[in-house]
Amino acid sequence: MTTPIGFDGFAAMLVGAAEVIRSHHEELSRLDSCGGDGDHGSTMVRAMAQVEKSVAGAAGKDLAGLLQDVGWAIMGVDGGATGPLFGSLFMGMAGAAGSEAIGDSAALAVLFDAGLAGVRRRTKAQPGDKTMLDALVPAVEALGRAGALGLSLDEALEAAAAAALEGAKATRAMQARFGRAKNLGEKSIGEPDPGATSVAYLFEGLAKGVKGHA
Ligand code: ADP
Ligand code: MG
Repeated sequence: MTTPIGFDGFAAMLVGAAEVIRSHHEELSRLDSCGGDGDHGSTMVRAMAQVEKSVAGAAGKDLAGLLQDVGWAIMGVDGGATGPLFGSLFMGMAGAAGSEAIGDSAALAVLFDAGLAGVRRRTKAQPGDKTMLDALVPAVEALGRAGALGLSLDEALEAAAAAALEGAKATRAMQARFGRAKNLGEKSIGEPDPGATSVAYLFEGLAKGVKGHA
């Protein structure tokens, strides 16, 4: 797709993400019941309801305004770690977005880099610690590679979704060092991390949404 991603494009991507995440909420809660408190799916459902509400309410704003509204709304979702972490992803992106639409995958990579930096300001977790970072970092790296290669916007998001999924799957073999699952020690090994799985579904939905928009 060569159509730049502005307000409408990102709105379609966010709605796509909300749909995919919502359709997997039971799995997300089941994964969280292994090492956490079993609320990750329902927290993500509430977060995605906030996303859709903000998208509808932000009509007339530019991309930065949309991302800012979405970030604030997710930030306010109670239920532990998820709201602040996912909220700061979008707040970070908002800080890097201007009023201009995203014209190519290199610009998209810059946007998500800023989102990742926002998340990293909130947590010291690193890849390998069995958290959402294990999907987010490879997804953002894949966007960077796509940008350097000059891939199209939808190819870039496809690559990010594939990398996030691979990263989430790899958390199965990891021991949790952050969040509630940390308390399980070695028993946290054996199932994928719920937050990383959510990130994989987030990117799957963003990629689907951008295609629908084209
Ligand atoms: P809570 O653990 O507070 O109940 P959720 O169940 O909604 O929150 O989300 C759990 C997910 O959040 C984990 O699977 C992990 O990916 C992510 N997470 C939790 N704590 C942290 C942290 N300190 N740093 C990074 N990610 C975290
Ligand atoms: Mg939980």
